[in-house]
Amino acid sequence: MSNGDSRGTDKKKIVIVYASQTGQSKIIAETLNDSALENGFEPTLFDIAQHGKEFNFNELVDPLVFVCSTTGDGETPESARKCWHKLKRINKDAEPTYLGNLNYALLGLGDSNYSQFCNGPKLFHARFQDLGARCFYGPVWADDGVGLEIEVEPFKDGLWDALDDFFNQNEADLTSKMHKLALTDHQLGFELTLPELVENHLAVEYSESPCEEEESPPSNLLKIFSAIYPQSASNIYAASVVESKIMTGKDAEKLCFDVKFKPTKCYTNTAEELAQFEFKYEPGHAIDIVTHNDQTETDRLLERLDLKNVRNKKLHIKLLNPTKKLGIVYSKLSESTHLTLDLLFKYCVDVRTNGLKKNFLRMLAEYCSEENERMRLLQLASKEGSEQYQTLVKESSLTLLDLLNIFKSCRPPVDYLIQMLPPLNTRSYTLCSDGSSSNEMEIIFNLVNFKKDDHRTYDRLGVATGYLSRLHKDDTFYFLNRKFQNFAFPADTKPIIMIGPGTGIAPFISYLRSLANDKSEQRNLWLFVGCRDPAKDFLFGKELVDERVPLLTKLSVSFSRTKLDNEQDPLFKHYVKDSKYVQDSLKHYAKEVASLLHDLDAYVYVCGDAKNMSKDVFNCFVDICVKELNMSTEQANKYLMDMIKNKRYKQDIWA
Ligand code: FAD
Ligand code: NAP
Repeated sequence: MSNGDSRGTDKKKIVIVYASQTGQSKIIAETLNDSALENGFEPTLFDIAQHGKEFNFNELVDPLVFVCSTTGDGETPESARKCWHKLKRINKDAEPTYLGNLNYALLGLGDSNYSQFCNGPKLFHARFQDLGARCFYGPVWADDGVGLEIEVEPFKDGLWDALDDFFNQNEADLTSKMHKLALTDHQLGFELTLPELVENHLAVEYSESPCEEEESPPSNLLKIFSAIYPQSASNIYAASVVESKIMTGKDAEKLCFDVKFKPTKCYTNTAEELAQFEFKYEPGHAIDIVTHNDQTETDRLLERLDLKNVRNKKLHIKLLNPTKKLGIVYSKLSESTHLTLDLLFKYCVDVRTNGLKKNFLRMLAEYCSEENERMRLLQLASKEGSEQYQTLVKESSLTLLDLLNIFKSCRPPVDYLIQMLPPLNTRSYTLCSDGSSSNEMEIIFNLVNFKKDDHRTYDRLGVATGYLSRLHKDDTFYFLNRKFQNFAFPADTKPIIMIGPGTGIAPFISYLRSLANDKSEQRNLWLFVGCRDPAKDFLFGKELVDERVPLLTKLSVSFSRTKLDNEQDPLFKHYVKDSKYVQDSLKHYAKEVASLLHDLDAYVYVCGDAKNMSKDVFNCFVDICVKELNMSTEQANKYLMDMIKNKRYKQDIWA
């Protein structure tokens, strides 16, 4: 694939793509290609029929000039159909930034004597916009009915200035990002206190001989997982997706996915398949899902590091100092399996925020040829730059690629990078299924979405949620059993107060489903859930109201962005007037909640967001104890802390 990245070099690379039916777009594109050379650009020309083979729109880093014709009654040219159908299949709600890195100029050709003038390129334009691309020049619609040249000539004339503006803007944008990452002289003082520079003791060599017969996945992958995940001392499970759907409305602030799957295979940590297995779990159980880095991101990284030509060669990673431990896992792996840079950057190393520790920035600084950039990286790595590091690198969740985009003269050697980047971790997900059948498993998750901004240089999704959101029916993924399980439900019959706004409802749905199968004695169960707007993001709302209410002593719902005043609404009787957050409902029922805690020894289970919600809920319980149980704030805190210690107040929370 040719998806050249001009950042980091002086050449202004552009990509020209034509979608031609009768040859007009092709001729115009070829003319543009020749003029581009004369105007100092480095063009690469593609027929859209090469899409998916030679290039992909979602992987283009350099600006695109797209010349597209119309055929039939407003259709895309035949050569474009495969590409068009591929783009049509992308779920724009699930992947709103699928083309987030695409910048394009568009020249559309059509004939106003036919209905649906220029509809072929208009379809592409609308789809590009839906998927997050940016049109930096045009669109221009040229009309064969009155003479194409009326629009084509001015388009050509203005294109080179528009491209120059695009590159200059990009340059200015990156420079401004770099300045934002810098300390002022006032903050800087005189000396920088820097972390120690960790020495590199890995050396990468590539097999010169043609690629050996690659061990067929999953065997190769399983060996990699076993080596990099410390948890995989136990088994690794392969799972097949049964159904994947978006649970929320399309206009919900956060898209929530529901994935049902079944485990299909089980492997030992030496990649041997077990003939028989059963995955047993109880409500409240979480699994660790094996994830991988986004392919486009790793492609761009390898390209930026000038490693495209060796990315598929078998690696030999040598330890220069056998007493050192950092990176040793990759050295062993490269001897025992078929390891390539592609595999390593996709599955093994964390190229996101976790990787950008201060000593990592210190290392990057050593490889900047521009003194200005070196100094700025050193500032960020220094004790004096801690505030900037925290707010700009950590809170903006900058990635390795962001830094390499911003610090264009930085050229770190790959062996050093491999040594310094931490391993890519699995991500935990609580099962919503009840454990009655090991063949039916289900998780829900909110898609994490990071937009390009003042600091980030490109759009991206969360590592695991981005990966999981792209899974379709019958796709395979891998998971491990999570060692640490903290949320099992009690075997005794004391009351439980369950609090799970948003995706925090997952373990409670699992538990209620399990109770529906178990007709034994009814328990005193209170469930507090919340969402923004029941019309958009009330997860399992219908199931709760239609099926689970009979199991609950109290269901209480809160809506943070809307109010419920229609008495006919089936949710109305579960809604406390004006309750915004679960804490408002807890406070409304303060007397009953206090009595459950104090008189009936109730358990409290809290699941979901750790950043704000779980702390606010804890403080709400403190207030309830103070008001209803006549405790001092100190006593209330101690009372609740003791509950935590005695596992009567349990939290499964994550930020
Ligand atoms: P990452 O790529 O790792 O990014 C997430 C990071 O980005 C976080 O540090 C977050 O603070 C930060 N971040 C998020 N949005 C922004 C933003 N806009 N700007 C800046 N920074 C941002 N999650 C579920 O959805 N469902 C579950 O059932 C579930 N169960 C869990 C059970 C357990 C026991 C644990 C420990 C966690 C659970 N999680 C669950 C959380 C889950 O493991 C992942 O952490 C989460 O899905 C995000 O993963 P990711 O790889 O997509 O995000
Ligand atoms: P969410 O959709 O962001 O929020 C759900 C509801 O909670 C919204 O109505 C929101 O209101 C409200 N809310 C916001 N701040 C609150 C606060 N301080 N107190 C009470 N309610 C508050 O939640 P989510 O993304 O599903 O869940 C949050 C996190 O939990 C995610 O990071 C997810 O990964 C994690 N999670 C962990 C586990 C686990 O550890 N076992 C399980 C599931 C999920 P507004 O936005 O309108 O303010």
